[in-house]
Amino acid sequence: MDTMLAAVYHGPHDVRLEEIERPQPGPREVVMRVRAASICATDLRIFNHGHFKIPEGAVRILGHELAGEIVAVGEGVTGLAPGVRVAVAPNVGCGSCWECVQGYNNLCPDYGALGITLDGGFAEYMRITAPAVQQGNVVEIPEGLSFEEAALAEPLSCCFNAQRACRLAPGETLVVMGAGPMGLMHLLLGRYSGAGQVIVSEVRESRARQAAELGADLVVDTRERDLTEAVLEATGGHGADVVMVAVGSAELQEQAVELAARRGRVNFFAGLVAGRDRACVNSNRIHYSQVTVTGTTGSNHRQYRRTLQMLGSGRLSIGSLVTLRRPLHEIGEALADAASGEQLKVVVIP
Ligand SMILES: [Zn+2]
Ligand SMILES: [Zn+2]
Repeated sequence: MDTMLAAVYHGPHDVRLEEIERPQPGPREVVMRVRAASICATDLRIFNHGHFKIPEGAVRILGHELAGEIVAVGEGVTGLAPGVRVAVAPNVGCGSCWECVQGYNNLCPDYGALGITLDGGFAEYMRITAPAVQQGNVVEIPEGLSFEEAALAEPLSCCFNAQRACRLAPGETLVVMGAGPMGLMHLLLGRYSGAGQVIVSEVRESRARQAAELGADLVVDTRERDLTEAVLEATGGHGADVVMVAVGSAELQEQAVELAARRGRVNFFAGLVAGRDRACVNSNRIHYSQVTVTGTTGSNHRQYRRTLQMLGSGRLSIGSLVTLRRPLHEIGEALADAASGEQLKVVVIP
C-alpha cells in the first residue's frame, strides 16, 4: 500500500499528523500532488469550533485553497493528464438545483466542498471527486504563476464576487474596513480594477502599515480618527462609492451604510457569529440616498476562472500577502501562526 503524510482533523483542537493510504483515482476522478494549500479563517474556525457539515466522530483533511500537480487520472477523464499544474476550486454544487443551474454553485443549498465536506489539501496527495472534475473545478494554472499564488486564487475570487456585486467602476472611491488578508486582497483587486482611491481602516499598526505599503491612498486608524469624517474629507463630502466590510462586525456594517455616497454600494463581506447576527442599519440612508446593501459568500466557477486569468496576466500580484510558509509536518505551528494575527497568508507546503 502506498502511503502519504496527512494532517487529519479529528475534532476541534485535534489535528493529527498521520501516515495514511495514498488516494488512487476512481473513474472520472483526479489525484493531485498538493504543492500549496493556504490557511484561511474558515480553517481556523473549524479547528476551534468544528463545522456543521463535519459530523462528530468523522475525520477530515482540511485545506481548501489549493494548487498542485496532477499525478493520476481515472478512467473517463478528458482534458487533464499527469504533469499538468492545476488550481482547484473547492466548492462543489449538487449540479441540478435552481442555484446550480443558474451558475451559482456557491449558493447551492446542498453544497459540498473540498477541505470541508470532502478531504482537502493539508496532505501530500488529494483526490478530486468525479462531480468536482466534471463541474470544472480543476483549472490549469496559467504559465508563470506559482503554485502559491494559484492557491490564493480561491480567496481572491471571493473578493472578485464581492466587487462585482458592488459594480466597482474605474475612478470610484473604495473603502475597505479591516486590513486582514481579505481586506488587503480587496485593496489590491480594487487598485487593479481602477478604483480612483482606496481608503483602508484598521486598528492594528502592523496591518495598517502593510495596507500603506500595498498602495492604500489613505489608511485610517479608527482609534485616532473618525472614519466617517476621514472618508467625507477625502471625497469632497460625497462619501464612498463602494464600502467593503471585511470584518465580521455588526457595528461596522452599520457604519458602512453611513459612509456610502448617494447611490453608493455596500458589501457585507464577512459573516457575523450566529445568534449575534443582527445589525441596526439606518434605513433612511438606504432609502433617501439610494444606497445598495449587498452581501456575497464564496465565488462561483466563472469568477474563480476569471480570477486565475487576472493573476495569470501578471498585472495583479498577490504573492506579497504570503508572509509565512510551513512544511506539512508543522501544521500545528502553521495554524497557530495563522491565528496569531501576526501573519497575513500562511501557506502549507506538503
Ligand atoms: Zn477560505
Ligand atoms: Zn445545487
